[in-house]
Amino acid sequence: MARCRLCRPGERRKPAEIYLPAHRLPLCREHFLYWFERHLERTIRSFRMFTREERILVAVSGGKDSLVLWQALTSLGYPADGVFIDLGIEENTFSLLSQRAAEAMARRLGRPLHLLSLRKELGFGIPELRRKTRKICSLCGAVKRQYLNRAAKRLGYEVLVTGHHLDDEASSLLGNLLQWNLKYLAHKYPVLPAERGFVRKAKPLCRHSGKEIQLYAEIRKLPFLPEGCPLAEEARRPFYAQMMEELEEKTPGTKLRFYLDYLRKAYPLLAAHKEEFMDRELLTCENCGEPAVSSPCLLCRLQEEFRARS
Ligand code: SF4
Ligand code: ZN
Ligand code: ZN
Repeated sequence: MARCRLCRPGERRKPAEIYLPAHRLPLCREHFLYWFERHLERTIRSFRMFTREERILVAVSGGKDSLVLWQALTSLGYPADGVFIDLGIEENTFSLLSQRAAEAMARRLGRPLHLLSLRKELGFGIPELRRKTRKICSLCGAVKRQYLNRAAKRLGYEVLVTGHHLDDEASSLLGNLLQWNLKYLAHKYPVLPAERGFVRKAKPLCRHSGKEIQLYAEIRKLPFLPEGCPLAEEARRPFYAQMMEELEEKTPGTKLRFYLDYLRKAYPLLAAHKEEFMDRELLTCENCGEPAVSSPCLLCRLQEEFRARS
């Protein structure tokens, strides 16, 4: 059996229970946790995402990705607090259990968790929006992005971090490349600076695969909610994710190389022209003063619509 590559040569090297094909690395469980957190630290530093002196807010959904991110940042000594949004999805089950998972994690880490509710603050939940559109995930994503940006600024955080990981990033890169979606590609970077009313955003898990995250969550016994959102739609993304997985299985390391080479070789060229690729100008919402592509902004329009209905 292969031995852990990181156990000290002087000691008896433990048998490797884990093998990371993309890194050709056999590891014992203990050194897997060590490797995972060091790999995260290197990502944060190499993309200059944030420092230990800054106020960091983690968008916590209750699922494994965001809990892993929160745990690993805290273990590395980053002062990260959490924010949970109650989306009002099957209130007595999915949203409630998600909130409990987020709260259990906050207790475990001894860190503050901000609890926000779409319905209480804006007058609608995601199920109401579901009745308006079949593409609920893109609308839900847009609502969450804008709401989280507002919340991070209001709560005084310098950077908002999310649990997007390599599988998300590589498969959405592939999908957008196949459609030559230049507007998207020119903004595809794991850290986006604070500008024009947006708080800085970062995706520190962008170099970790979903499998590595799952393993970390299991070994650390994190209290994540295993069920996914019941409103999740069958999108094209899983198809691209599956294609990436097949490539990865044939040639381990492809996913990471594909993504990192994009960031290194193609992103700088596209980013230099990003203003030209924008199809709409960025405005300021006349109602709430937030940056938006239309005025009133999406949240203000929805808020008004549901206020008028009630
Ligand atoms: Fe929103 Fe779709 Fe995620 Fe459910 S799966 S929380 S509807 S984006
Ligand atoms: Zn070891
Ligand atoms: Zn607005």
